Amino acid sequence: MNTTKLAVSEPFFQKAPVCFECTQCGHCCTGKDAYVFISLKEAEKIRSFLGLTKAWFNRRYLIRHSDGDLVLSLRDNGDCIFLDKDAGCRIYTARPVQCSTYPFWPEILKSKKAWLREKTRCEGINRGQPVSLHKIQNALESLPEEE
Ligand code: SF4
Repeated sequence: MNTTKLAVSEPFFQKAPVCFECTQCGHCCTGKDAYVFISLKEAEKIRSFLGLTKAWFNRRYLIRHSDGDLVLSLRDNGDCIFLDKDAGCRIYTARPVQCSTYPFWPEILKSKKAWLREKTRCEGINRGQPVSLHKIQNALESLPEEE
C-alpha cells in the first residue's frame, strides 16, 4: 500500500478533528446569492409542515434559479424567506438537507483554507466540541451529487 499517497490525499478534517457549534446567529441564512436548493420532496415536506396549500406555498416561497432548479425565495435583503431575525428558522424541523448539513459541504471541507474562510461567515466554525467523522461523512453523503 502507498501510505505516502494516502497521507497526502487525506482530508484535513481527518487529520485533526474540527469543532463546530451553531450559535443560531443566522449568518448562513442570508446573502444575495445564498440560495437554498431543494428537491420536490423537500418542498412538499416544508409545505406540509406549514399546513399551506400547494398553490399558496409555491407562489409565496419557491422560485426557479437561473439554472432551472427549485430554490427557496429570498427577501430583498438576501435573507432566506423563512429566517425570522428574532425566532430564527421558521421551518427548522423541516429544513432542507442543504441547511441541515451546513457547514459540512464539499466546497467548505475541500481544504483547511476553505474551512477557515467560511469562518468569516459562520461563527460556529471552530467553536464547541469536535465533530465526529461519522457525522461529517453522513452530511457529505446526504447532499445531492453535483451535476
Ligand atoms: S452561520 Fe454558523 S453559527 Fe450562525 S446560524 Fe449558521 S451555522 Fe449557526
